[in-house]
Amino acid sequence: MNHRGYIPSRERQARSKLAKIIHGKPFLQGSIVKRASKCGKDNCWCAKESIGHTACYLSIRIGKKRKMIGISGSFEKDAREWVMTYRQINKQIARVSQYCLERIK
Ligand SMILES: [Zn+2]
Repeated sequence: MNHRGYIPSRERQARSKLAKIIHGKPFLQGSIVKRASKCGKDNCWCAKESIGHTACYLSIRIGKKRKMIGISGSFEKDAREWVMTYRQINKQIARVSQYCLERIK
């Protein structure tokens, strides 16, 4: 049985990696989705096509509802990175939690 104050080195490393990610980068919960829709203008090319204009959205869940927030083209790359960072953080939290669980076993 480990002493309470003792933190195994792999857990210490995992926690420090987690802190580094949180401190260093913006993060965003949700997912990036692309959707095509028609703009509604009669004189636009999309009026005659079966597909429409592709737009990028951040899909987030608020309570039980899903919300789509439009993302401009120039922000898409950043938004994707922020979402990926959020997932990295989640993964890292799960890892630390697992190590902590193993400490109480
Ligand atoms: Zn159109």
